[in-house]
Amino acid sequence: MSSITQELLSTYDLLKSRLVGEPHTWLVTGVAGFIGSNLLETLLKLNQRVVGLDNFATGYQHNLDEVQFSVSPTQWANFRFIRGDIRSLEDCQRACVEVDYVLHQAALGSVPRSMADPVTSNGVNITGFLNMLVAARDAKVTSFTYAASSSTYGDHPALPKVEHTIGKPLSPYAVTKYVNELYADVFARCYGFNTIGLRYFNVFGPRQDPDGAYAAVIPKWIASFIKNEEIYINGDGETSRDFCFIENVVQANLLASCSQSDLAKNQIFNVAVGGRTTLNELHALIFSALKKVDPQMEGRSPTYREFRSGDVRHSLASVQKIESILGYRATHLLGDGLELAMPWYLKNTRK
Ligand code: NAD
Repeated sequence: MSSITQELLSTYDLLKSRLVGEPHTWLVTGVAGFIGSNLLETLLKLNQRVVGLDNFATGYQHNLDEVQFSVSPTQWANFRFIRGDIRSLEDCQRACVEVDYVLHQAALGSVPRSMADPVTSNGVNITGFLNMLVAARDAKVTSFTYAASSSTYGDHPALPKVEHTIGKPLSPYAVTKYVNELYADVFARCYGFNTIGLRYFNVFGPRQDPDGAYAAVIPKWIASFIKNEEIYINGDGETSRDFCFIENVVQANLLASCSQSDLAKNQIFNVAVGGRTTLNELHALIFSALKKVDPQMEGRSPTYREFRSGDVRHSLASVQKIESILGYRATHLLGDGLELAMPWYLKNTRK
């Protein structure tokens, strides 16, 4: 490849072309979930070997089936699934055998779920995380990248959110994700085991669960539009989020795992777009993306109700650190992602 071509290609493009010719073994925990299954799909398409661990608590076999249909039989043969629970150290140890890169995604997401059942969230998100750290450390993996969360910014009012300035957690879920970061840091200090934490900001895209009490706002509203149901906005609609399309999250995971930079070691990075959208704006954007694929779709005003406890008011990431250290560049803005994901959401929303 000429140096001119190299300059035009992003760090991520270069990494992907390198990986295609260099198969490694990756462990994706939470592989049957939304983010995990998208990581699996990208890795298999890059001819990587993947071990997946999941207990189907919130993930689905149909997510794995979709990945199978999207890759070649040869690529699918590079996938080995382990049904297991991260709360079992033995399951984690089994999953880490001969693994190079760990992408730890398994957890119980959702702030309201953790409010309703903090004990189970604590067990999965903290004990499970600790088990994975121990198993990966003992297996001497090359790198360990884990799903952290923007909820760690808690009640700190500053915008944009910069990695080193956090507030107090506002929910049991936020506590669990913050404890992950503390444990990761302690593992570097005590055992020299380095990790990278990726603080995801409201991720969306294909295979994000549209059903259930704990569905995220984008699939929930799309489903409500399609089913002609009431759309609720918690609060005045001026609550804002940095919505991040799944492709950007996949990119961040691959860049983090393969980074050779000393500056990346034992670090936390925001993963987002660096743009803020209010819920009122999101409502309008979802409607216009839906209208493009279904011109019959009718507009509907949202119903405003009480603010939800545990929610942060505004969220906007600084992506400067991940851009400068890992070479990350968000490739999809909210509108791009909605358009790309809409056919999937339409197909997978039960009427
Ligand atoms: P998801 O619920 O779709 O995926 C989580 C997966 O983990 C599921 O497949 C589930 O079955 C599995 N899992 C749960 N408990 C397990 C256990 N005890 N043992 C083994 N597997 C288990 O959620 P997601 O949105 O894909 O989230 C992935 C990660 O990203 C989580 O750690 C979550 O906290 C984090 N995160 C997500 C977002 C977001 O906007 N989606 C934002 C911030 C952080």
